[in-house]
Amino acid sequence: VSETIFSKIVRKEIPATILFEDDVALAFRDIHPQAPVHFLVIPKEPIPSLDDMAEDHKGLVGHLQWVVRQVARQQGLSEGGYRVVTNIGVDGGQSVPHLHYHVLGGRHLAWPPG
Ligand code: AMP
Repeated sequence: VSETIFSKIVRKEIPATILFEDDVALAFRDIHPQAPVHFLVIPKEPIPSLDDMAEDHKGLVGHLQWVVRQVARQQGLSEGGYRVVTNIGVDGGQSVPHLHYHVLGGRHLAWPPG
């Protein structure tokens, strides 16, 4: 079982600006925002990345994307649009090995990423 800084945020051992929480998911602001709105949506269970999903996580991952949509709307991103990203592994640029969706919005985002 991987233990990262995000597990400490889940357990409230280190502070975060929490935007949403339920039994299985947490949304909180990224500490180094890359856009006017930048938050992360994570499962409380420490799944390392989307590539480590098991088949019985399909419902959980659907729920996480529902949380993405709900918090994005609450943060006012629906009209202008926004981006949802999950980095996986070394080539994906993942730095924290606990599954997370980045949600970025509030400015126009370039494509493709670097
Ligand atoms: P990634 O590079 O995709 O693994 O993204 C990890 C993200 O976690 C980065 O955008 C960091 O800024 C963010 N991050 C790291 N530590 C914290 C923290 N304590 N609170 C909030 N966000 C964090």
